[in-house]
Amino acid sequence: MKQKNNGTWVSWNENVTHNYKSLYKITTEEELREVIKNSEKIRVFGSKQSSADIASGLETLVDITTYNKILSYNDSEHTITVQSGVILGDLLDAIEAKGWCIPCLPDINTITIGGALATGTHGTSGKLLCEYMTDCSIVLADGSLKKINEKDEIIDAVRVSLGVLGIMSEITFKCEPIYTLHVKEGPEDDSEWLPKIKERLNKHAFLRILWLPHTDKGYVITGDKINPDTEITENLGPAYLKHRRTASKILYKYSHIFPWTTAIANKLLYRGFFRNTKEHKGSLYQATVTKSRGSTIELAEWTIGLDKFPKVFEELKTEINKWSNKSFIHIPMDIRFVYKDKSWLSYAYGEDTVTMGCVSRNAATADTYEAFKSIEKVFLKHGGKPHWGKRFTAKDAGISKIYSKWEDFKVLRKELDPTNKFLNPYLTELLNEKQRANAVA
Ligand SMILES: Cc1cc2nc3c(=O)[nH]c(=O)nc-3n(C[C@H](O)[C@H](O)[C@H](O)COP(=O)(O)OP(=O)(O)OC[C@H]3O[C@@H](n4cnc5c(N)ncnc54)[C@H](O)[C@@H]3O)c2cc1C
Repeated sequence: MKQKNNGTWVSWNENVTHNYKSLYKITTEEELREVIKNSEKIRVFGSKQSSADIASGLETLVDITTYNKILSYNDSEHTITVQSGVILGDLLDAIEAKGWCIPCLPDINTITIGGALATGTHGTSGKLLCEYMTDCSIVLADGSLKKINEKDEIIDAVRVSLGVLGIMSEITFKCEPIYTLHVKEGPEDDSEWLPKIKERLNKHAFLRILWLPHTDKGYVITGDKINPDTEITENLGPAYLKHRRTASKILYKYSHIFPWTTAIANKLLYRGFFRNTKEHKGSLYQATVTKSRGSTIELAEWTIGLDKFPKVFEELKTEINKWSNKSFIHIPMDIRFVYKDKSWLSYAYGEDTVTMGCVSRNAATADTYEAFKSIEKVFLKHGGKPHWGKRFTAKDAGISKIYSKWEDFKVLRKELDPTNKFLNPYLTELLNEKQRANAVA
């Protein structure tokens, strides 16, 4: 096991930094168990792509990205077993080669599986990624190994665990046969797409709406399953469309100083990049997941019950269109759909939901981005839930009102980790636990 001493941990967009005393790179389960057993406090991190301060902040850290092997396949069950540090893109390449898929994918392929599960990572028109996990093993605070399968009640707590119940070691996913999607994209007025959500969810296998704040438009992406040999008229739009993120970066350069320029930038971005229609086909992974990003961003995301969404949307729209409150929002706000499940800390616990993303294209100035505050205010008022891996300020008292299993989760956490070994300062405050020494600045 490799060890580095006395360094600085920096998140991917450089918004979270912490000093550490020891950083271990592990490659085996035995090493993972040993380092957890012998540490008083410890945090494990993956690709460092969370905006929330959940992955570091302690003297001892484990980099899990070197614990990244694909371990086995079960061809008759369509399952794959991997180590938790495997990168999602590598897992997806491996299952596509088998003719399989996981039918709900986030719009990022560089994250680790362990990080994705811990924070409730999701895609659209399906369930959270963790719902496709059938078995896992976790290393508990005392270094012992606990194996969990679908029949164990605890699995509903472990699927989304913020990395505070134990550290995921090996994970098995149940896959489905791969399918081809016929994807169609194009702009629509808000008055057109908003009332059609339920109808479209019934009709299409894939639905995602990129809402374009301050333009009264959404960019609707639908996907229908087709036979892979079906011929379609491919239309990827003009070649310059691929420069959308660079154009956004330039247009938003001074939006932290003059927030109102965002409204003008959005209108220009709509005209330049979202007015065309597009049509293409491919697997869910190939046709819908972003493979590279030119620059870093900062993110928040909130989830609300499907039935409540139209009201919350209109309220948010009114709020951000007030020129007085500086809550101008960069393009796009990603609207996706997650179907109900039973995982305790899932956004979709017990109800079908809509998720709404909020992006700041200037990661460095995110602290002054009023939009994050407005979206939190509006969604919290209606019982909305924050994405665990993204920016939000709500703490224990607020969270306990929106997660009916929050208190049960806290009790279980205390049972499994009585000395709070896995709690950094951020999680200590989130869970309203007493702070112990051994946190670093
Ligand atoms: C550009 C971008 C796009 C995104 N798109 C989406 C999206 O489409 N949908 C979505 O839901 N989210 C999305 N996210 C959020 C992202 O999926 C999560 O923040 C995810 O946790 C990042 O994974 P990571 O490997 O970087 O984890 P890290 O940020 O390194 O860690 C996240 C958490 O997981 C814990 N952890 C890591 N490994 C383990 C393990 N083996 N066992 C237990 N705990 C562990 C860490 O301690 C930490 O608490 C996006 C983020 C970015 C930056």
